[in-house]
Amino acid sequence: MFCGCKNDPFNAPQPNIYTCPVCLGLPGALPVPNKKAVEWTIMLGLALGCDIARLSKFDRKNYFYPDLAKGYQISQYDMPLCTNGIVHIPEGDVRIHRVHLEEDTGKLQHTTVDGHSVSLVDFNRSSVPLVEIVTEPDIRSSDQAKAFLKKLHQIVRYLGISQADMDKGSMRLEPNISVLKRDDGTVPGLTEFTTNDVSSMAKLPPYKVEVKNINSFSFVKKAIDFEVARHIEILNTGAYPKQETRGFEENRGVTVSQRSKEDAKDYRYFPEPDIPPMRFTDAQIETMKNALPELPDAAFNRLKTAYALPDSDTLLLVDNPVLLRFYEAAVAAGKTKKYTGTPKIIANYIINKQIDTASDPAAVIDSLISQANLSACPIEEVVAAATNVVAANAKAVIDYKSGKTGVLMFLLGMVKRELKGRGDAAVIETELKKLISKS
Ligand SMILES: [Zn+2]
Repeated sequence: MFCGCKNDPFNAPQPNIYTCPVCLGLPGALPVPNKKAVEWTIMLGLALGCDIARLSKFDRKNYFYPDLAKGYQISQYDMPLCTNGIVHIPEGDVRIHRVHLEEDTGKLQHTTVDGHSVSLVDFNRSSVPLVEIVTEPDIRSSDQAKAFLKKLHQIVRYLGISQADMDKGSMRLEPNISVLKRDDGTVPGLTEFTTNDVSSMAKLPPYKVEVKNINSFSFVKKAIDFEVARHIEILNTGAYPKQETRGFEENRGVTVSQRSKEDAKDYRYFPEPDIPPMRFTDAQIETMKNALPELPDAAFNRLKTAYALPDSDTLLLVDNPVLLRFYEAAVAAGKTKKYTGTPKIIANYIINKQIDTASDPAAVIDSLISQANLSACPIEEVVAAATNVVAANAKAVIDYKSGKTGVLMFLLGMVKRELKGRGDAAVIETELKKLISKS
């Protein structure tokens, strides 16, 4: 984010090789913001319907932890790049409070060396650009949280600004959870969190618990469900849950306490003196807005209209922009090759056969064309072949009638062989059953 080190911590051949005086915080080293990261954050803000700041700055967030060589993180405090956005999902819209840009920290590894418990630190990830997206407290259920995060993931991948690969830690999910008592002061039950009533925002609970660094959508749902149940239990005793940061243990499906939650004042934020504030003109923002690629909602509507696909297929195809591009390339190849099947047949083939999107989209059309040629076989030929097979395999027919229905596949294979691979399997099966019942 502030130096020229390679950003590829996940594939680094060894620890502490993508480092330099800037990200190691050595004396005299000066940070320079990554222009592309700033532009991409603004693009993300635009895609999330945010207001983009015309004046923004970086701040120092001071804290000591071994994964942070400088003793502070360069982040954004009171003037983030983007504010006030919204994400539309069927489960209920979620407003975006802010989107800000900062640097990632290094990674600690707790392990054993020569029989001693040690903590090792790897700074390869240190100073990789990191965007933090904070929502308003609009999420009312774990299902809504999961749907929102999936949508966010999709938008990031459409923008092409991150692979957002959760296995590699390039997207990390951190729900903040609290349970609001009913108006009469009683504690709600486990299933009362389905409404998206923003009016209740005015009276948020006096505490919140953050679960850090979750790496899958289903784990977020599990962590939230676990926390809600835990909070209800504590609230029922008359107490409030402790405001703290917790971690999710995947194997046990539980959260565990990590540390008490800090307030902003604990970090002694102040403007980063080594980086001047950033100013953006309306024209710059407008140019970035015009350069935005098609986003998932627009792709969904376009696909539905252009190819007359059902919603379920469209949803699957737009889920991943790589799959979407592959599908559209296959449809285009179909036109070139004068393939007569519908776009829906092409969609079904790609989805059902789980075609590798790295392969040649035109090969999909070639397979569909040869398949269509194969199943093109006059019904008279099917009947004639099936009649021959039934006559020549009297024992199999008797077996079938005595309940060994498996032999039908054998007979079907014989018919296929006679037709040299042509003919539709379902049609052949129907004809065989008709002939057997008559014999
Ligand atoms: Zn560096």
